[in-house]
Amino acid sequence: NKEQGAIRRTASADAAPSEMMNFRKKTLGGKRSVSSNFVSPVGQTQTTTNASANIPPSLAHLDPKMVEQILGESMHNFKNVGWDDIAGLESAKSTFLEAIIMPLRRPDLFTGVRCPPRGVLLFGPPGTGKTLIAKSIASQAKAKFFSINPSSLTSKWVGEAEKLVKTLFAVAAAHQPAIIFIDEVDSLLSKRSGNENESTLRLKNEFLIHLDGAASNEEARILVIGATNRPQELDEAVRRRFVRRLYVPLPTKDARQQIIKKIIRQVKHNLDQSEVEQLAELTEGYSGADVDTLCRYASMAPLRSLSAEQMEVIEPDQLPAVTMEDFNKALRVISKSVSAEDCQQFVAWNEIYGVRH
Ligand code: ADP
Repeated sequence: NKEQGAIRRTASADAAPSEMMNFRKKTLGGKRSVSSNFVSPVGQTQTTTNASANIPPSLAHLDPKMVEQILGESMHNFKNVGWDDIAGLESAKSTFLEAIIMPLRRPDLFTGVRCPPRGVLLFGPPGTGKTLIAKSIASQAKAKFFSINPSSLTSKWVGEAEKLVKTLFAVAAAHQPAIIFIDEVDSLLSKRSGNENESTLRLKNEFLIHLDGAASNEEARILVIGATNRPQELDEAVRRRFVRRLYVPLPTKDARQQIIKKIIRQVKHNLDQSEVEQLAELTEGYSGADVDTLCRYASMAPLRSLSAEQMEVIEPDQLPAVTMEDFNKALRVISKSVSAEDCQQFVAWNEIYGVRH
């Protein structure tokens, strides 16, 4: 009996689909506005630093409140993310190792014509591992990781966003090697922002100045990584600055299998290898985040089947195992979030502007 010691499930074990919305991180073309609240692209493991203790003397000329804000909110410490934590994307990983990580670790070897690019653009559907890659590069390069979300810049720092950008780059320079990660970079540096108000335009120019500054200073060990689900929105000036433009596509069947295995390893389950393969097959077109959501949903089934009274008394090792049936139910609730059409757009953009890896 695979569900040894298990408590029988009640018939109404399925949660309402709306419950699942909690698991979703982003959707392509998802809601986003200048008035959105700050949503850090970095996961739950981050901790903020003890800001004021970290202000180096070289930053004394800057607004201390802003410096503290950046050190406290934008600079993240997180559990190291290794390449093994990212399923698939093998060629992107080797490109990054050679072109970005080693130069950050050994700047003395990568000088002159060997000088690495300072701007990297990761583009592709949401939930495919762009943030994970940026965090892994920071982990492997032993670099400080600053992440900003443009909607927070424009909403929180009305009139001061330019100054904040300047301060951000100065703080990053004081903490080299450093990575500045800009999620949803299109919303900050899009074609459209030229037609918007003057302050947005000034903000954009400020960014370009600093991107150029980082690029022209061989000594600087600052890398700017932009991530976007809408590369076609970027204007030409910005696109040119992100010298390396890498497509981060949906996971292959193998990569989906890796993600599934890694997640279900954390719970009691009775899936065998052929069922895991079957799941990888059934999740064709799912993003990494979709697969993650699916597995988490299925993993909740044993808990969902308990009554409140049972939940009070059950020991963790008495929980029923997660079954293929749980996954089949989950597949009916959690569907893929990226359409084939969306993917086609990325492929087309990649053909024109992407860097082969
Ligand atoms: P993006 O920045 O592309 O929107 P993230 O890097 O934030 O996506 O990924 C969201 C989540 O999806 C990750 O925290 C991880 O759980 C899962 N995920 C996405 N892609 C992968 C992958 N290639 N390997 C492992 N997990 C992945």
